[in-house]
Amino acid sequence: MAEFQLIEILKRRCAWPRADVRVGIGDDAAVVEVPAGHELVICTDTLVAGVHFPLETGAADLGWKSLAVNLSDLAAMGAAPAWATLAITLPSADPDFVARFAEGFAELAAQHELALIGGDTTSGPLTITLTVHGFVPAGRAMRRGGARIGDVVYVTGTLGDAAGGLRCLQHVGASSLESGSIDHADRDFLVARLHRPSPRIAAGIALRALASACIDVSDGLLADLGHIAAASAVGFEIGEDCLPGSSALFDQFDTGVCRELQMGGGDDYELVFTIAEANVAAMLASMAETGCRVSRIGRAIAGAGVHVLDRNGQRKHVAAKGWEHFT
Ligand code: ADP
Ligand code: MG
Repeated sequence: MAEFQLIEILKRRCAWPRADVRVGIGDDAAVVEVPAGHELVICTDTLVAGVHFPLETGAADLGWKSLAVNLSDLAAMGAAPAWATLAITLPSADPDFVARFAEGFAELAAQHELALIGGDTTSGPLTITLTVHGFVPAGRAMRRGGARIGDVVYVTGTLGDAAGGLRCLQHVGASSLESGSIDHADRDFLVARLHRPSPRIAAGIALRALASACIDVSDGLLADLGHIAAASAVGFEIGEDCLPGSSALFDQFDTGVCRELQMGGGDDYELVFTIAEANVAAMLASMAETGCRVSRIGRAIAGAGVHVLDRNGQRKHVAAKGWEHFT
């Protein structure tokens, strides 16, 4: 199997036809057209086998997830996705693996009419680097640095599911697993949240005009909200009891474990954002329109860092710090 045959598989399945792609896969470089009055938003994420995903993860799930994690970054900026380039390193020229990878990728790409327009194919330890391009109207991207004291903090969806799914796969920490009473529907839901996250593109676009700062939760809520705190020079108080959780998570794990996973677990790919109180009503209306659940979890305060409040409003110490490389 030659390299060009693998590229052909990717081209056939993933090169969604878009009018703004002048030259796609097959030449020395891609040529695309950015709509007038818009800016390009570009992000890259690498998934390394055994580091970012378990070695036994299915190829289709990898295809989906490598795109989802990048789309989530675009969502956090309020961008509409358009194109992607894929650098894929494979241990062997395995057409079945590439076909299944392409299938998972294409499933999510079709939802957003995103086109794969180029890339590079090499041999080595399994590593997937995807670069995604999207647009925002000029000057309108959401940033981490816009939070103001008094803004309220909201998060989309539920937190902790992906980390719960990972624990289900690793068979640790779930009281239901230890007692042998795991509910398979719950387990499947949590594992799907790990392998097939849904990037909040529609919510991000709707929030562009309303939120003051936004980030996606990839490394854990406290870590990621901490980035908004640092960039905006504010602190945050977060109510532990306000954190949205799925019934699957709370059915399978003890409450204390759930709280830990919600605050420190990675891979949620929800959006956490700050917003002026005056914009909240409009935001709730537009989130209802996009069908995206949002929960109010805290407030920006004078100070620094992210502080967790217990149900009595007292600050409590939380050890969970989230995922970091090189530590
Ligand atoms: P070159 O040697 O000129 O860099 P390649 O043989 O690497 O060309 O690639 C040929 C074409 O296939 C290019 O358009 C490139 O962008 C595309 N391509 C290569 N690998 C991938 C990939 N993994 N995904 C998508 N497109 C790819
Ligand atoms: Mg060339």
